[in-house]
Amino acid sequence: MDDLNWRDLAERFGTPAYVYDGDALARRVTALREALPDLEVFFSLKSNPNPAVYGVLRSHGARAEVSSLAELTTVLAAGTPPEDVLFLGPGKSEGELAACVDHGLYAIVCESFQELAAIDRLAGGRGVRQRVMLRINPAYSVSGSRLTMGGKPRQFGIDEAAVLAAGDLVERHPHVDVVGVQAYLGTRILDADVVVGNTTYILDLSERVATALGIRLEAVDIGGGLGVPYFDGEEEFDLKALRDKLTPLLAAFRAAHPDTRLIMEAGRYLTADAGTYLMEVRYTKESMGEWFAVTDGGTHHHMAAVGIGSFVKRNFPIELLARGGGDGGTDAPAVPAVDRWTVTGPLCTPNDTIGKKVALPGLAPGDLLGVRRSGAYGPSASPVLFLSHGYPAEVLVTEDGARLVRDRDTTEDLLAKYRP
Ligand SMILES: *Cc1c(COP(=O)(O)O)cnc(C)c1O
Repeated sequence: MDDLNWRDLAERFGTPAYVYDGDALARRVTALREALPDLEVFFSLKSNPNPAVYGVLRSHGARAEVSSLAELTTVLAAGTPPEDVLFLGPGKSEGELAACVDHGLYAIVCESFQELAAIDRLAGGRGVRQRVMLRINPAYSVSGSRLTMGGKPRQFGIDEAAVLAAGDLVERHPHVDVVGVQAYLGTRILDADVVVGNTTYILDLSERVATALGIRLEAVDIGGGLGVPYFDGEEEFDLKALRDKLTPLLAAFRAAHPDTRLIMEAGRYLTADAGTYLMEVRYTKESMGEWFAVTDGGTHHHMAAVGIGSFVKRNFPIELLARGGGDGGTDAPAVPAVDRWTVTGPLCTPNDTIGKKVALPGLAPGDLLGVRRSGAYGPSASPVLFLSHGYPAEVLVTEDGARLVRDRDTTEDLLAKYRP
């Protein structure tokens, strides 16, 4: 994607825009699947719900993990077989559960005993059985993940101790087939050893749960949470190290459970690197010794750039992608000899800062900047309605060229739902 004609893309689709590299998506999912052939890779649409992005990942072997009716509809419309879909989330509605049962999804990842009872009732009412995987809140906590998900009180999943003590749970839910367990122990994991540790724990846990509940283990979902480096000092996740350490572990499990589906969920890892948030500089100015590039892009599209998991602002990688379209004539804006820029957006809040003191050459209005590694948790995880600028355009670049895969919101779109 480095040799994309960014100026051309900006002219065709406008800015700000998210640009996704289809090749990068394909390479990433393929690399993960080839490194870990014992695992089925389920793409977490939460990280990027664009159907075109999912289409690329699916055509390279990704299955789907969804958490809303829109995500479910997206993957079914893409032709995903229901047996390759998991529905997960702590507050599923009756309508969502009913859709899962009606479509015969492989499994609902169940997050509470009450939800299990609701699934049993819905399936019973329809005269069918529904497969369920129990999401477990493990009595185990990991370090090395930016967001710890185990060993603490959580709204997610059922406490390990409660599941192990659940006795005749299966008998009490005759319309449900409990087929296995799921656990998700964190996100932004950059250390392969943490994933190995988590997986070791979850595989062992799955056997203990199967014994305690008297079920046949048909599926184990080890979660995932593989990260990408965004900030200085962070290193690329070492997929080869993961392969070397996980393969014997999975092989041993496989030997004991030859027919069990082994599932890994991946969101950020598949999409982050493939996305660039393309913005145009509107104004440049100095304030008390600090230089600002005020762009047409902002944190309403890229909330993560404000700062994830830390109080100190750290910058996403930001690059100058193309110079302004002007003819460089005598009234072209002057380019100051400045090498540190604070990159901001159009919102009326000091928080609308994409990058602080970013190393960039002198800038002028019309220059195109790109925030790299932005393909995950972009606009869909940002306050796109704040100040009513709306959703940006999204563009997918493949070997067939670049195409618009989401329209930018218009003023009419933004106002259509109000009832004055
Ligand atoms: C958010 C989430 C994912 C995806 O996480 P990434 O860090 O983007 O890979 C997977 N599983 C569950 C349960 C999640 O909540």
